[in-house]
Amino acid sequence: MTTAADFSPDGYRRLIGSFLDTGYEVRNFDDVEQEKPHLILRHDVDQSLQAAVQLAKLEANIGVSSTYFVLLRTEMYNPLSRDGMDAMRAIRACGHRIGLHFDASLYDDDRDIFEAAAERECAILETALEEAVGDISFHRPVRSLLGLPGRFAGRLHVYDPVFYSDMAYCSDSRGGWGHGHPCDHAAFDAHKAMQLLTHPVWWVTPDADPVEKIGTVLDARLERLHRELRDNCEPWSNATRIDPAETRAEIPGRIRR
Ligand SMILES: [Zn+2]
Repeated sequence: MTTAADFSPDGYRRLIGSFLDTGYEVRNFDDVEQEKPHLILRHDVDQSLQAAVQLAKLEANIGVSSTYFVLLRTEMYNPLSRDGMDAMRAIRACGHRIGLHFDASLYDDDRDIFEAAAERECAILETALEEAVGDISFHRPVRSLLGLPGRFAGRLHVYDPVFYSDMAYCSDSRGGWGHGHPCDHAAFDAHKAMQLLTHPVWWVTPDADPVEKIGTVLDARLERLHRELRDNCEPWSNATRIDPAETRAEIPGRIRR
């Protein structure tokens, strides 16, 4: 039985530990073997690059490497801002890979249009990172992209049947194990490969409740925007004499939940 406490930094260490203790090796999408005890660690960064950095450091401490899939076109964060670039570099410095998290809902539902758009987004990420982006995952994937065999925009993609339907797949969507705990999966007992998708925000933020975790991300974002306005917008700066070290509750316009 999974409890909310399992979705914590210690819980993540225990989860990965239970794979390593039974002989699993952490692999990437380009060197995984289906019949072997190989574990692919995939993270879709939906809400917060800062949460991703925290998980990247935790993983470096336990000696595993993973792939962080970053959205280029989201309202939640800006990977090309100074904070965003610092975060992606920090993730890389921990020995992890950066992939593209592609939101197909922003484009017309057409395979050629999707691939051209993903190619453009990868090129932007590659220019920013000064390195190749070899893997793509889909954000809330549209039906036409699930189970698409072969490469997408010239790159590996995580919903290729070889990583998805032909391989064990577990995800912590909505902050829980909706389709069962990874260690209860038949593949775990059989020592076969698994793709494990986890979202950093569920693991690194301290509050137990998923809504509170998202609230923590929202508060941190609001505080960051407040600091940016204080430093760059004089009317706001003059009107708000708040030390950002003080409580977030004092920021004018704070969203009440
Ligand atoms: Zn996503």
